[in-house]
Amino acid sequence: MSYFDTHAHYDWKEFDKDREELFDKFKETLCGLVNIGINIESANKVIEYANKYSYMYYSLGIHPMEVEKEISVNLIEQIVKNELKNKESKLVAIGETGLDYHFNYPIELQKKYFIEQIKLANKYDLPIIIHSRESHEDVEKILKEYRVKKTGIMHCYSGTPEMSKKFIDMGYYLGIGGPVTRYKDIQETVKITPIDKIVIETDSPVLPPEPFEKHSRNNSLYLNYIVKKISEIKGLLEEDVIKYTTQNAYRVYGIKDYFDK
Ligand SMILES: [Zn+2]
Repeated sequence: MSYFDTHAHYDWKEFDKDREELFDKFKETLCGLVNIGINIESANKVIEYANKYSYMYYSLGIHPMEVEKEISVNLIEQIVKNELKNKESKLVAIGETGLDYHFNYPIELQKKYFIEQIKLANKYDLPIIIHSRESHEDVEKILKEYRVKKTGIMHCYSGTPEMSKKFIDMGYYLGIGGPVTRYKDIQETVKITPIDKIVIETDSPVLPPEPFEKHSRNNSLYLNYIVKKISEIKGLLEEDVIKYTTQNAYRVYGIKDYFDK
């Protein structure tokens, strides 16, 4: 069985001690993993990993919680441009970007970075990875005003089931991870979402599924707990959940090899 983890942060310090060991283990169970860039520093690391492991891909962007530290989206664009010169490039998306109203990061600045990254995605014909926390209405507004041609993923979707329909209607996929094992609202969302609009993710090192403790370290070997929950909710075989979510991941990220096989 081959899982596709559409969202993880293996450049974070939580993995400093056993990163390589885990990457080697993942070869047995994963057909794909996207490391998500959150700033310039992480951009360099996620590119390095993708060059080393065949199942690994990456995205480049500025996280809404990083907006005060960064200089400009132009810097990200320079890296994007450079990476895309290589026809075999494993750059599959822009992000993660979006809005986070949980903490007090300046909202106008977050919006500016979000819109700039939408434009960047459209310029290079890439999908986008969206982080939306307690900000779903504003995210929806911006996505309606600034359409992303290739759409993308509502990463770690945490809005209401009703709201999820709006994003699905706009062509977005929902990223479902550990929280689906804990929260009723997300389970309800999964119930009403067509399986061809769901991708799975761990968001490692954060958000582990049950039975692991909420604040313990997550990793991509736990994807089976997420698959199990989705299969229960939707009445599908686990192997079918894996098959569909993997196909969806290849489709949204535009990874062509898979369909050529
Ligand atoms: Zn993330």
